[in-house]
Amino acid sequence: MRTGIGYDSHRFALGRKLILGGVEIPYHKGLLGHSDGDCLTHAIIDSLLGAAGMPNIGQLFPDTDPQWKDVKSTELLKQVLSEINKKGFRLLWIDSVVIAEEPKLNPYIPAMKKALSETGIPEEIINIKPKTNEAMGFIGRKEGIAVIVTCLIERLVN
Ligand code: MG
Repeated sequence: MRTGIGYDSHRFALGRKLILGGVEIPYHKGLLGHSDGDCLTHAIIDSLLGAAGMPNIGQLFPDTDPQWKDVKSTELLKQVLSEINKKGFRLLWIDSVVIAEEPKLNPYIPAMKKALSETGIPEEIINIKPKTNEAMGFIGRKEGIAVIVTCLIERLVN
């Protein structure tokens, strides 16, 4: 058994869609990023890479590489899952905290789980817990969103 931890934060920007967990969420701003800015999916990817002892998302999909420009982050997650499966690991659990002052994310959790499950992760092993930052710091000032993820994987083969 191995655990992994992932963290990501992205800044809000006008004129961008807000994508979290592969779902477009209605809001007047979106997250800036070379990809779609989906910091939940990025943190999930980093937790998986951490558990598997692999390099982080920035090393695997550098933002200097035009092929990752505006890429759907769930596509990157799909690739990482397949890499991890090839190494003989099976994902058992993902827990996440999405820290955002706005918008309210609870109504979108089922849609996020469903969209993430389309990458190959069963919905039943994905947990998503939105929180605010009690009006403190950059999140409290609604400048961006941060996400923390832990995962548990097991090695099926040596
Ligand atoms: Mg990111």
